[in-house]
Amino acid sequence: MNMIFAVQKHQGSHLHYDFRLEVNGVLKSWAVPKGPSLDPAVKRLAVAVEDHYLDYANFEGNIPKGQYGAGPVMVWDLGTYTLEDSDNVATSLANGELGFVLHGQKLRGSWVLVRTRNSNWLLIKHRDAYASSEDITKLKPRSVLSGRSLSEIKSMYNQ
Ligand code: MN
Repeated sequence: MNMIFAVQKHQGSHLHYDFRLEVNGVLKSWAVPKGPSLDPAVKRLAVAVEDHYLDYANFEGNIPKGQYGAGPVMVWDLGTYTLEDSDNVATSLANGELGFVLHGQKLRGSWVLVRTRNSNWLLIKHRDAYASSEDITKLKPRSVLSGRSLSEIKSMYNQ
């Protein structure tokens, strides 16, 4: 079964990447301060945050001033994912370890999310043909929807 995954680059009070997986009709979400890494040796902190509606995966624009997370949001990657070693994503999340394969435009191949403590998780690339030491956030900084940079989105949709 193919489910949606999305990564939104978001300049709130701090720049971060919101990593989202469709689970039972909502987007389970983690804020990844440094963004995903293709290097299996690099473990990226991913802080579990509130669920979002499925349609939010396509949102690109500015969250208005005064609202939580005010600032520009870019659809940095979008695609589908499949589960690895599990047929029940909710159970795997409850147990604190979820393996999955991403079919995105920037992120592909096998990954795992592992819970360390409370809402802190680690996002780690598994070693496969898509692993790389290149910094994907630097190499491909723009939107997969519009091709725009975050600053272009900010000025384009200025409130
Ligand atoms: Mn965010």
